[in-house]
Amino acid sequence: MKLRARLLAAFAVVLTVAAGVSLLVTPIPLRDRLLAFGVVIVVGLVIAFAVAEMLARPLGDLSETASRVAKGDLTARAHARSDDELGALAASLNEIVENLRAQTNEADTSRDEVRRSVRRLGEALRVTHVDMRKMLSVVLETALVAVEGKAGAVFLLSARRSELYVKVGRHLAPQIAEQRIPLGRGLVGWAAEHRQAVLIPSTDAPVPEDPEPTEATALAVPLESQSQLLGVLAIYGRTNNVPFGNEDLETITSLARQAGVGIENVLLHQEAQRLSITDGLTGIWNYRYFQMQMAQHFAAAVRFEHRLSLLVIDIDRFKDVNDRYGHQRGDTTLIELARRVVMHTRLNIDTLARYGGEEFVLILPETGLQGARIVAEKIREEVAATPFGEDDDEPIGVSVSIGYASYPEHGLTQQALVDAADKAMYEAKARGRNRVVGAEELGF
Ligand code: GH3
Ligand code: MG
Ligand code: MG
Repeated sequence: MKLRARLLAAFAVVLTVAAGVSLLVTPIPLRDRLLAFGVVIVVGLVIAFAVAEMLARPLGDLSETASRVAKGDLTARAHARSDDELGALAASLNEIVENLRAQTNEADTSRDEVRRSVRRLGEALRVTHVDMRKMLSVVLETALVAVEGKAGAVFLLSARRSELYVKVGRHLAPQIAEQRIPLGRGLVGWAAEHRQAVLIPSTDAPVPEDPEPTEATALAVPLESQSQLLGVLAIYGRTNNVPFGNEDLETITSLARQAGVGIENVLLHQEAQRLSITDGLTGIWNYRYFQMQMAQHFAAAVRFEHRLSLLVIDIDRFKDVNDRYGHQRGDTTLIELARRVVMHTRLNIDTLARYGGEEFVLILPETGLQGARIVAEKIREEVAATPFGEDDDEPIGVSVSIGYASYPEHGLTQQALVDAADKAMYEAKARGRNRVVGAEELGF
């Protein structure tokens, strides 16, 4: 029952009882008594209504104002101006609303700032080709600041596209970095499988699963470029423990969209770089990369007085292979040769490059002439020992002639060293092919 009705009922009861009692004891005829009773009741009711209205109206106003504020309307104000308790209550309520409004304005302003910086970041991502880890770190940091996230990660899709792994993470348990999450599992797995942004808590949403942090509120948004899935951006928990809402999901989604473009740019850039320094047929380094590496290794060898050796490897009578088996078999032979030689090189130390045609070069840092001869002999043997070709192919016997030269013995400049190794290779040809000749044998 409303306050107004309750007051009215209470007054009416009191009035009826009072009028009844007073008239019972009054010595006038019954008819007059009834009439007087009626008049007193009517007059009393009017007064009761007026008093109830006077008390209830400011309270009603206060209650209406409070409920509008509760619904988020911060323009609502209480109107009671009286200098009694009700007036004081109204003034206090108005003050609270005013403070709330000021705080919300501040929050709105900082949220706007965050949105603006998210947009700026997106623009920056579109034009930069920084390395992947750095770029994703910036994306993750921005996301955490934008939604006040506790922890987060950028997951990328594995090469086989069936699992996700953490590329960059913040405030996560260290073991998550070593684990892979299958598509479909947990929050990130769900977002990746359905290619859909997900917010928890919400109905029918998946929950984070080990090794993801088990927070009650979290966001996961797919990272895509040109409709291809690249990974997932996930935020776990909020620093103030207030659950994430749709607005947060929108902020992260917009960030993820821009990050997708950024990732695509980095991948394109990496691919372009890779293409410009690798040989299209064999996949090993090309002449251009060899030149760059040779310059670096030579400078280091001179500076730190290290040794450095260079092998020049040329296939014997390769023209015959093409003539007899066709250019295609010639190509696959070159690919197989590169693969076999790579097996005799040190990963991330030696540089094997296609020098041109059917000629290869191998840079051996910190290797002297004895070492160079040993490597050269192994390669020569490996090539000559087993014919080339796949199971169904007619086997082709191949051999190589190898010349080597070492710094400082055979040349004090980069060019002198390359020339010495080249001459040694021609000497090997002259001596009948399928052999190794060192520059020292030519009197260098
Ligand atoms: P030598 O023992 O003197 O080195 O004889 P060679 O026949 O290997 O030497 P030559 O320099 O006369 O011929 C090299 C041949 O390599 C000619 C060319 O057709 C072939 N060649 C060069 N590049 C490629 C390639 O990319 N694919 C194929 N299939 N053949 C190539
Ligand atoms: Mg040749
Ligand atoms: Mg040649």
